[in-house]
Amino acid sequence: MAKVIKAIRGMNDILPDEAHQWFFFEQTVQDWLAMYGYRNIRTPIVEQTDLFVRSIGEVTDIVEKEMYSFVDHLNNDSLALRPEGTASCVRAVIEHNLLYGSPQRLYYSGPMFRHERPQKGRYRQFHQVGVEALGFSGPDIDAELIIMCARLWQMLGINGLRLEIGTLGSSESRALHRARLIKYFEQHADRLDEDANRRLHSNPLRILDSKNPEMQSIIEHAPKLIDDLDEPSCIHFETLQHILREQGVNFEINLRLVRGLDYYNRTVFEWVTDKLGAQGTVCAGGRYDGLVEQVGGKPAPACGFAMGIERLLALMQECGKEIAHPVPDVYIVHQGERAMDYAWRAAEFLRNENCQVILHCGGGSFKSQMKKADASGARYALVIGDDEALAQVVTLKPLREAIEQARVDLNTVSELIKTK
Ligand code: ATP
Ligand code: MG
Repeated sequence: MAKVIKAIRGMNDILPDEAHQWFFFEQTVQDWLAMYGYRNIRTPIVEQTDLFVRSIGEVTDIVEKEMYSFVDHLNNDSLALRPEGTASCVRAVIEHNLLYGSPQRLYYSGPMFRHERPQKGRYRQFHQVGVEALGFSGPDIDAELIIMCARLWQMLGINGLRLEIGTLGSSESRALHRARLIKYFEQHADRLDEDANRRLHSNPLRILDSKNPEMQSIIEHAPKLIDDLDEPSCIHFETLQHILREQGVNFEINLRLVRGLDYYNRTVFEWVTDKLGAQGTVCAGGRYDGLVEQVGGKPAPACGFAMGIERLLALMQECGKEIAHPVPDVYIVHQGERAMDYAWRAAEFLRNENCQVILHCGGGSFKSQMKKADASGARYALVIGDDEALAQVVTLKPLREAIEQARVDLNTVSELIKTK
């Protein structure tokens, strides 16, 4: 036998038995985004490596350790599988001049790639829905993005999510804070781990994001950004809080929220659950006013977030959300030549009537076909033998309900199915 070829570690197949949950999720998300006027944008999965380096930041986990980048040997281009969607979205918006004239409410959805250690809730190919509002500068759009999330959790049957919000201030206040952080961490250089030491001068904010338990106490006592915050950023943050309170959206302020990407400023937020163990952040985002310019466009403010679909599906299950498997309306069993011809006609007739029909293929005894009909989950089996075919009727056998079987014509079948 040939050697078995397996899927790549950390990259999952989504099998038919799980696909209905994805459908439910995707359909709900589409309805939800339409409610708020967000429009879909689809960008390629592969981009120039430089796009992500420039936007996410050279000294970040994603770019340093997690990005699938490679040289396309056919023309020596340096390419990368997208690790997230914001950079691609911004690139496309600039390339097609979408911000000319009016701001944009956009969303995308699809696979993202990060070379991380696979574990529950953390994969190398995972899926995100990302929502981006470009060209808006005020805290009102930040509030809209957060408030719409709260509605989605309800639509998905999720409860118990905690909202954490923070602010990173302007780039000037970050620069000031950065200098103070470097000074502080230099004083405690002996207690920094290898990553932190390396990032001390290039990206000290990243140290605050460290999960190393031995560093938590120096991180705890590090200078706080709030003390370096500029006035307009304070007002922005206050207004956001005001709108959230008005709308009854509960939040906690977390001024240690750093986020794993460099492009954020001002508002940052995360939706977190305790129900999924260590991988508890299901949705995260914030404002990124400098990114459009950084990627080569005319300066434009922006704000957005991305959610992890695998984690949200897992959370829906934890919350007891049941999503019914789709089942066919009827399964047609048939035996005999005349019966087969009529079975084909019956199947297409019922499909014209919007019924979901499985036509048995592959022959076999009535008994074995009936077993398959039952296993399909169909509501009715339609039995067609040569005498049914001759009379242009079917024997309708209810598979789930305690009603008598009966010989009926196809119109009666379609009426019966429509009254479900
Ligand atoms: P984490 O702190 O869990 O590594 P992150 O800050 O790297 O997350 P973002 O880049 O903000 O994540 O992506 C937004 C969301 O995408 C996350 O909140 C999470 O739900 C999901 N996500 C990120 N990385 C993965 C992954 N490797 N596998 C599954 N989901 C992921
Ligand atoms: Mg990460």
